[in-house]
Amino acid sequence: MEKIKTVSEKPIAVRMHEKDNVLVIASDSGAKTGTILYDGTELVDDVPYGHKVTTTDIAEGAPIIRYGETIGFASEFLPCGSWVNESRTTLPDAISLTEGFPEHKIRKVDSEPLEGYTFEGYRNADGSVGTRNILGISMSVHCVSGIADFVVKRIKNELLPKYPNVDDVVALNHHYGCGVAINAPMATVPIKTLQNIAKNPNFGGEVMVLSLGCEKLRPERLIPEKQSGQPEDIILTMQDPAYEGFQAMVDEMLERAERHLAKLNQRKRETVPVSELVVGMQCGGSDALSGITANPALGFASDLLVRAGATVMFSEVSEVRDGAALLASRAETPEVANALIEQLTWYDEYLKAGGVDRSANTTPGNKQGGLNNIVEKALGSIVKSGSMPIADVVAPGDRVVKRGLNFAATPASDFICGTLQLAAGMNLHIFTTGRGTPYGLAMAPVIKVATNSGLARRWFDLIDLDAGTIVSEGESIESVGWKLFHLMIDVASGKEKVAAEKLGLTNDLVLFNPAPVT
Ligand code: CA
Repeated sequence: MEKIKTVSEKPIAVRMHEKDNVLVIASDSGAKTGTILYDGTELVDDVPYGHKVTTTDIAEGAPIIRYGETIGFASEFLPCGSWVNESRTTLPDAISLTEGFPEHKIRKVDSEPLEGYTFEGYRNADGSVGTRNILGISMSVHCVSGIADFVVKRIKNELLPKYPNVDDVVALNHHYGCGVAINAPMATVPIKTLQNIAKNPNFGGEVMVLSLGCEKLRPERLIPEKQSGQPEDIILTMQDPAYEGFQAMVDEMLERAERHLAKLNQRKRETVPVSELVVGMQCGGSDALSGITANPALGFASDLLVRAGATVMFSEVSEVRDGAALLASRAETPEVANALIEQLTWYDEYLKAGGVDRSANTTPGNKQGGLNNIVEKALGSIVKSGSMPIADVVAPGDRVVKRGLNFAATPASDFICGTLQLAAGMNLHIFTTGRGTPYGLAMAPVIKVATNSGLARRWFDLIDLDAGTIVSEGESIESVGWKLFHLMIDVASGKEKVAAEKLGLTNDLVLFNPAPVT
């Protein structure tokens, strides 16, 4: 990527690559007809903030180039200085996943190791490291989620204050477990997700399981293999005839919770290398600056993490689909390249079965934010994966097994992506946003990075880091990337709390269930 060009006098316009025939207007108020940009382009339309303007005449049907790539074709003649909006652009065809891929070679890793960085984490018996110390209450069916919420409230009020080393108590509410085709081949996805979330490092191997009794998903399947204790002590079944009345169940749950809290309270933070971080990255509510500021800075920070030996996941299949060839060429081995293509192909078929394609991804907010289509969104999204080789591909619901950069194949839905990354073992989440979302997870801290300073100013108490300074103040991508890296260490260590934690804002878990319901 060419170094970003900005000018100090307004309006700010940004070019990402020397081949580009558009500039992005990055001034809060946009730019009016007649304005002359730094490269001499005179605007023939009013261009809103985040939107593109042509810097040359573009013939009907000719490519519109951003990031050095074709993001679409002009659907009409666009004279120099025109606003490039959605109605003036046609979407390129999706690239083939079966033809035209060069033969893959083993990719050499020649990055310099980054040594000496540590954080304060909770070391677990299975070798994983938590960034928070949380009592998780898992459940085998949605029927009991109201009970779980009721009990969590009581535990928080009556028990948690007695165990100062425990950060929180969280009900792992979900909508699965019954009324579903439990033996359908793809039912393995939601089931594996629930099994693996219970193993998330932040729960310290101490989850409780709440069951109704008659559901299809048997609660025994949710107990992590290595968790100590007998199933009858871990699972509480509401339909067990031993319970007479609701109060008896609540009393039993509080008593059990106290035993788990006592164990979790013995966990102490210790100094561990940054290589123990398992960072999940995603974006939500993206705008045209996502690919200019926050995602490149996150990509730089991702490279630092990988060089330090950490595990980093990028995801969101429909947002990387248009970069398939680029990503396959970054796979460490031919097997990893094939696994990547396999996941993208499966998702193409999944979308096709639903009568849509990748263009279903972009939202009205994305478009208002200047992203014309999924190709432009994808190119801006992929940059968060940095430049390191892709070490492995994680299927939906699976745990990450290799250190380094992983592609965790998840839908782009913020909640499903976060849920699957938690199942993969994520202990820290980085979320970039341009339009602004109050996204948060109860099970792992979420650092929210704004793509533009206007959002960071308006949402000063909801956003954790402003990457918009790359445009608004000319700060370098590297400088913001390092800031983010240090913030990750402080948040992982519990020295800093993220905005969502301070305010107690969390989203529900949302399972990915590609299998039928009944
Ligand atoms: Ca997302």
